Amino acid sequence: MSTPSLSSETIRQLIEKAKTVRQRAYAPYSHYYVGAALLGENGDVYTGCNVENAAYPVGICAERSAVVKAISEGCISFQAVAVVTENGGTPCGECRQVLNEFNPDMLVLIADTDGTLLMQKPLRELLPEGFGPANLNKERVGNRKGTRDGS
Ligand SMILES: [Zn+2]
Repeated sequence: MSTPSLSSETIRQLIEKAKTVRQRAYAPYSHYYVGAALLGENGDVYTGCNVENAAYPVGICAERSAVVKAISEGCISFQAVAVVTENGGTPCGECRQVLNEFNPDMLVLIADTDGTLLMQKPLRELLPEGFGPANLNKERVGNRKGTRDGS
């Protein structure tokens, strides 16, 4: 796969969805609200927000909650992810690793709560030399339709 070039309208819609879902973030401890919108190879969008917990390490980031939603709905490959925070925060290392599992070439779009696109670059530039299925002599599971191969 190569990094997709998305239309400015698609980018705007992804940022808008990430902004909207950010409002549902459960972040009573950090008050750092994050929304993510993940564009599947199938064209569908899966959103996620951060969900914190009184036992701090149990919380989950917006990006990974979007991945979990997508996988549970049968989409396993992604073109892009938009992440919205108040100040243009980028995905943490753990989220970069989880996204890398599914497509190192996906486009990462970083925006603020005004909807301003602050950065766009392929995931592999955020996680150079990332560990992936190939390191375990495995093929990536997703296909171009974004579903599991063979299903
Ligand atoms: Zn994260």
